[in-house]
Amino acid sequence: LKQRLLNTVGKNNYTNWIEPLELSGVKDGVATFSVPTSFLGNYVSQNFGDLILYQVNSIAPEIRRIQFRTAANTARDPAATKTGPAPQRAASGNGAETDIRLNTAPLDERFTFDTFVVGKPNELAHAAAKRVAEGGPVTFNPLFLYGGVGLGKTHLMHAIAWELTSRQPELSVLYLSAEQFMYRFVQALRDRKMMDFKEMFRSVDVLMVDDVQFIAGKESTQEEFFHTFNALVDQNKQIVISGDRAPGEIENLEDRIKSRLQCGLVVDLHPTDYELRLGILQSKCEQYSRQYPDLQMSDGVLEFLAHRISTNVRVLEGALTRLFAFASLVGHEITLELTQDCLADILRASERKVSVEEIQRQVADHYNIRLSDMIGPKRLRSFARPRQVAMYLCKQMTSRSLPEIGRRFGGRDHTTVMHGVRRIDELRAQDAQIAEDLEILRRTLEG
Ligand code: ADP
Ligand code: MG
Repeated sequence: LKQRLLNTVGKNNYTNWIEPLELSGVKDGVATFSVPTSFLGNYVSQNFGDLILYQVNSIAPEIRRIQFRTAANTARDPAATKTGPAPQRAASGNGAETDIRLNTAPLDERFTFDTFVVGKPNELAHAAAKRVAEGGPVTFNPLFLYGGVGLGKTHLMHAIAWELTSRQPELSVLYLSAEQFMYRFVQALRDRKMMDFKEMFRSVDVLMVDDVQFIAGKESTQEEFFHTFNALVDQNKQIVISGDRAPGEIENLEDRIKSRLQCGLVVDLHPTDYELRLGILQSKCEQYSRQYPDLQMSDGVLEFLAHRISTNVRVLEGALTRLFAFASLVGHEITLELTQDCLADILRASERKVSVEEIQRQVADHYNIRLSDMIGPKRLRSFARPRQVAMYLCKQMTSRSLPEIGRRFGGRDHTTVMHGVRRIDELRAQDAQIAEDLEILRRTLEG
């Protein structure tokens, strides 16, 4: 096994990460490795977990799961705390143990439907995910979920996997990131294991590929992905894909893949709004209160955070985690003042900074045109007006100069931008529809 792993991960990785592992037991199809620190365990499970499992399983087919466990009673490991609570995928409970099952990349135990808070911005995505998770006949294939970073794509995909496997334990559900897909593909090429690779991917019942934009521009990986995708669709196997934008807008993605991705149901996760953020905060806060029963939360703190922190849920969670940890050290009550103190940097960073790209995307969405048409050269009025609206909002809401804005609109001249901004300024006074559009857009963008 060690030799195989050495071949797969390379000498450096092997010495740094794999060598310290010790097989401490095999029971009921689960192989347990002891690791010196939970940091190491987490790192190994995230980066090499699937490979290790794959190799273990090919030597000992009865093993379908591996776990990493820190030796009992080890002193608290500072390295592990440093990784912070947010990105510790696959860390269960106290983070000292990780668990990998065959056919799934590590799934985060916290990412279930129970812990997913539903609001207007994500209700459609949630409903679609639920439908897939029921495991009935395949109605839309693939399900394509997209949205900005930290809006819950990965959470929903894990939730689907958890629910499917709990309803139908015999189902083989494969969840992995597009990056892992590529990694495995390259590995298979290198080891001349393409047959195994194809067989493995074509034998799953449900395939979920996260962050598909990662394979954009990577030609042979796209090629293989395309074939895998088709083979599964032909067998009527469910596929779920996520991306950071709509299929048609992922640059350097082959057209045939784009059109395949659009064949099923495409739903987006919108930026969170105030109500959703508050809901998420309340739900996380309840979880924390169990962990820190002595801490009191003053009125208004959650509302304050929901107002002040940007749309990214990950940032929101990070803030709350820090707040509880900090408060538990200094007192019993989480006051507004303490919150402002403890989170000063986060609050400053999320003072509403809207990017040109965000504005372009929102405006394109709002007017139902493609981002590429908004930025592109076409002068059709149906593109030109939204383009001017976007320019106007860029001028109003960002600190970019006119030439900079022009550059981001397909290399237009600053006078074009100036003209657009003036035009919208005029229209705003005369045209109620435009005024309303601007108002809605601004509110969405401000989160
Ligand atoms: P993405 O994959 O879209 O970048 P994630 O799914 O990783 O985002 O979500 C980031 C973090 O925010 C995760 O910890 C996730 O649990 C949390 N989160 C996102 N949306 C929700 C929601 N609606 N309810 C509860 N938690 C959420
Ligand atoms: Mg994600």
